[in-house]
Amino acid sequence: MSQQYGWMGSMLRVDLSAKTTQVMSTLDYIDSYIGGRGIATRIYWDEVSPETSPLAPDNPLILMTGPLSGTSATACSRLFVCGKSPLYYPDQFGTGNLGGSMAGSIKAVGYDGIIITGKANTPVCLTVDEGKVSFDDARHIWGQDIFETQKYIQSAVGKNSESLCIGPAGENLVRFATAAGSNGAYLSHGFGAVMGSKNLKAIVIRGSKIIPVARPESLKDLNRRIWSLIKGRDLFDPMLEGIERLRRSPCRGCPSGCARSDFKHVSGLVDHRKVCGSAMFHLAFEPDYNGPQTQGTAFLVTTLCNRLGLCTGESWKLLSWLKLCHSQGLLKDCDTELKLDELGGLDFFKTFAQKVILREGFGDVLAEGAIRAAQVAGKETEALLEKIAAGAGNAPEEYNPRLVLTAAAVHATETTNLVGQLHSICWLPLFQWILWESSNGAYSKLSTEVLIKIAQRFWKGESAADFSTYEGKALAAFTIQNREYANETLVACDFFYPLAYAEGAPDLVGDPDLEFLLLSAVTGNDYDEDRYLRVGERVFNLTRAVQSREGRAGRSFDVLPEFNFTESLDESGGGLISMFNPESLLPGPGGQLMSRKGSVVDREKFANLMDEYYTLRGWDVASGLQTAKGLIRLGLGDILSDLRNRKLII
Ligand code: SF4
Repeated sequence: MSQQYGWMGSMLRVDLSAKTTQVMSTLDYIDSYIGGRGIATRIYWDEVSPETSPLAPDNPLILMTGPLSGTSATACSRLFVCGKSPLYYPDQFGTGNLGGSMAGSIKAVGYDGIIITGKANTPVCLTVDEGKVSFDDARHIWGQDIFETQKYIQSAVGKNSESLCIGPAGENLVRFATAAGSNGAYLSHGFGAVMGSKNLKAIVIRGSKIIPVARPESLKDLNRRIWSLIKGRDLFDPMLEGIERLRRSPCRGCPSGCARSDFKHVSGLVDHRKVCGSAMFHLAFEPDYNGPQTQGTAFLVTTLCNRLGLCTGESWKLLSWLKLCHSQGLLKDCDTELKLDELGGLDFFKTFAQKVILREGFGDVLAEGAIRAAQVAGKETEALLEKIAAGAGNAPEEYNPRLVLTAAAVHATETTNLVGQLHSICWLPLFQWILWESSNGAYSKLSTEVLIKIAQRFWKGESAADFSTYEGKALAAFTIQNREYANETLVACDFFYPLAYAEGAPDLVGDPDLEFLLLSAVTGNDYDEDRYLRVGERVFNLTRAVQSREGRAGRSFDVLPEFNFTESLDESGGGLISMFNPESLLPGPGGQLMSRKGSVVDREKFANLMDEYYTLRGWDVASGLQTAKGLIRLGLGDILSDLRNRKLII
């Protein structure tokens, strides 16, 4: 084999039932799929049938790095994970993406990925130590929470090891159980329960291999350039009362692109906290609680979730639903064995969490996640989920399309990675514009003029920055999705890339080429924007094919919840960004300020937008199904016969 740069060249397959391993080559995949999301999705397509149950031994847990993982490429060392998700409804293909250091460690042990199937007879730790694999008895730590387990692993294996482990929620198959890596990295979408179903308490890695880089000097120059582009970035860092920051603690390969830090609570408790809504979800419930409130409750609640292995996003959905059910008299204390009047207090959350992880009483219903819990509680309670929970993906109201029309096609078509795409539109660009507008430029320099330039460069047209019109929104969504999917093959951080707003650039506009330039420098294979985005488009289409095969086939599924068409946008309707922009102000025609308040999505215009979107994708406009011609154009001809047999292709 000639020298390979970036990739390690092989993946490790583990069968926990037979306690055997195999090594398979990565190299057959890299031209078409690069790595990360691309290779993982291809393996899923090849090996997972629509009938596979998420908690069955044959559901694989696919952990995949990318060619940039573990190198010094800035903010590109995340780990992509896929398999069938027990959290989504119905059971279907799910994905996760975690920071910290796990991806770099898998590379350092000599693999591009690890694929785990089967189920161990009794709890095990899968240890890969400098390439030597062992199945270590974990019965004595089964039942320990995540912090205790991490401490044990560090003492038993050593501080230079990395792990991904579960707590009691994963062991008891709570559908929204997480798995935890180091440095506050959490893998959600139910993969903690997938590990629990395999009796897999932890994956422990220790390796020291160096990842070969083809053009180290180019990589250094690019990193320097990236850091000069974000020079002066003001990390959005809302502090909570009762906690203080001890130190920044970014993911490997990211000298600090966001405000991830270790914090100390007044009680002395120390935990890692991210800055996004998932870490502060409990703040939404505290104002309505009239009892005594502990200082820093939101921090303590997140820490409890981290310790037990509960997903904060799904916890938010369940609390939101319980609150609505209680306020409408649909659920009472006697139905839930919870003091619902006390929702918003720390003690309430402790009881809720304990019941869920033990699946005790109504906790057994809640452990199934919001959608399945509402099915048990009854039809009237299901209706209350319309704005809170979708079958898969984000809350339907988050960054919703009545406010940001670009999000319409994303919400309608995407179920596995909504948040990365929505970040591309709403996080840095729009959020910074809102700060600029509301502070007359004091807190951000991202003016309307800069936003228009970003739209031209990153969203393929100035019209994408006019939020009064449907024009240009299908093309923007198409481009954003392809870029996000390509970025997840590396695996680049969606909080950092695409680097659209650059405080250190003379015109404040970043560079959409950075990701493929990093890829070229590390691997020595030259990419341009077309080639790179084409990979993203290919992986997006492969994902669409997976979803079609699992029952989400065609246009009838590409819909928005009804409230988008019937309920006018009010000051709370845009999710997080409405908190900072209650008047729903955005740039309109010619950059003029306008308000989206009172808007709904126009049904006919949305249908036209989707027609345009299907045309760009090369899908059949009437049915929304993929076409043979389109898939062959993308080099996916080898998946046609399966889709044809199932009548899922035009
Ligand atoms: S921007 Fe934040 S989440 Fe992303 S890689 Fe850097 S530290 Fe990790």
